[in-house]
Amino acid sequence: MNTIANHLPTAELQALDAAHHMHPFTDGTALAQKGARVITKASGVTLTDSDGIEIMDAMAGLWCVNIGYGRAELAQAAAAQMTQLPYYNTFFQTTHVPAIALSKRLAELAPAPLNHVFYAMGGSDANDTNVRLVRHYWAAKGKPDKKVIIARKNGYHGSTMAGASLGGMKPMHAQGGLPIADIVHIDQPDWWAEGGDLTPVEFGLERARQLEAKIHELGEDKIAAFIAEPIQGAGGVIVPPDSYWPEIQRICDAYDILLIADEVICGFGRTGNWFGSQTMGIRPDIMTIAKGLSSGYAPIGGSLVSDKIANTVADAGDFNHGYTYSGHPVSCAVALENLRIIEEEKLIENVRDVTGPYLAEKWAQLVDHPLVGEAKIVGFMGSIALTPDKAARAGFAAGSGTAGLRCRDRCFANQLVMRHVGDRMIISPPLILNKSGVDKMLARAVKSLDETLAALLAEGLMK
Ligand SMILES: *Cc1c(COP(=O)(O)O)cnc(C)c1O
Repeated sequence: MNTIANHLPTAELQALDAAHHMHPFTDGTALAQKGARVITKASGVTLTDSDGIEIMDAMAGLWCVNIGYGRAELAQAAAAQMTQLPYYNTFFQTTHVPAIALSKRLAELAPAPLNHVFYAMGGSDANDTNVRLVRHYWAAKGKPDKKVIIARKNGYHGSTMAGASLGGMKPMHAQGGLPIADIVHIDQPDWWAEGGDLTPVEFGLERARQLEAKIHELGEDKIAAFIAEPIQGAGGVIVPPDSYWPEIQRICDAYDILLIADEVICGFGRTGNWFGSQTMGIRPDIMTIAKGLSSGYAPIGGSLVSDKIANTVADAGDFNHGYTYSGHPVSCAVALENLRIIEEEKLIENVRDVTGPYLAEKWAQLVDHPLVGEAKIVGFMGSIALTPDKAARAGFAAGSGTAGLRCRDRCFANQLVMRHVGDRMIISPPLILNKSGVDKMLARAVKSLDETLAALLAEGLMK
């Protein structure tokens, strides 16, 4: 068997990596100078790099390894499925048992009207599907002009042409001529950064009502859907004010606008329920799923679709859309085994009732640190805003990311993966993290915050 357990020395691996491997979301020149960190194995919540250093992964990879690393059951499920049927497609009226079983399971888990799944390989391409699906739906209903999708600034919906267009990330739009046509953006519900003198409740309503204003501006007969993450993840774990989602739901109901909840991060236990829509009390027509669906052990994503939409589309002839690997049997088998573990080991109940509340209590205490303004957490996704002036909710004069980048580097040095988005530090740990793991994570985070503060003071970036 071809094994990669034995490998070259780190410096040689880094040189080869820089020579031949183009990385996502990375400055290639900077990477070549510094060398990538090479991860060689992982177990539970712990990564090991090529120098043998152990690092606690408070991000669950990219928000996906919900059940933690090293679960042999998923490897066995993949091996068994590969042996029996490694591949067959689901085009042209064929199917296979893993896709049938996973679809049934997802229909059971999802809120009532979402009984249908269209499979993709990840979240980006699932959102591409959503764009085509909602436009096709409205055309089938005799309203081909309902094409516009309203999304949000600083939202994240993936990196394909449609995914990045739905997303509201300026640096992504700047490359490749995005957004594509008929996708428009309203402001995000980030009270800390943008709330000004409004209370969070007032601000949440104001931001939600931008949706209504946009519908009036463009005309209800032009709008197909609104898409949003129940809680923005890549944008910095922005938890909206309580007033936000009920008002969005009211507006989607009042006008004939489909609601797409991008559950790629929030789904599969992250917020203490199966789906973030349940935590936020919303009733989407479509949910985008990926990441925690397989805990990252195999690539799979999809769209969970309501009866109303699926039935209309089914009656409208061929839906001319699909991926070679839609419903890949190995990914479906891995996802099923992952869902079994989440359910049988009560990982979601544990996050909701035990470890989540424990983490929330400790996380809230971080606001006592001189560098921390707001601390937000829902279930097992949280963020803190670093600020030189809490009362003013100010940013750093030297620019966004001044403290965040330093803190991220201190975390790495202290054997903790915690990501930064500008000057927000974010976590999304595996759902299996226990109370002593929470303590260990927070001890490393606080040490890193202390060191960041000391560095900022020494460099004169903060008084
Ligand atoms: C990660 C992410 C995506 C993109 O998923 P990929 O699997 O990377 O294509 C889409 N939406 C949200 C909310 C995400 O966090």
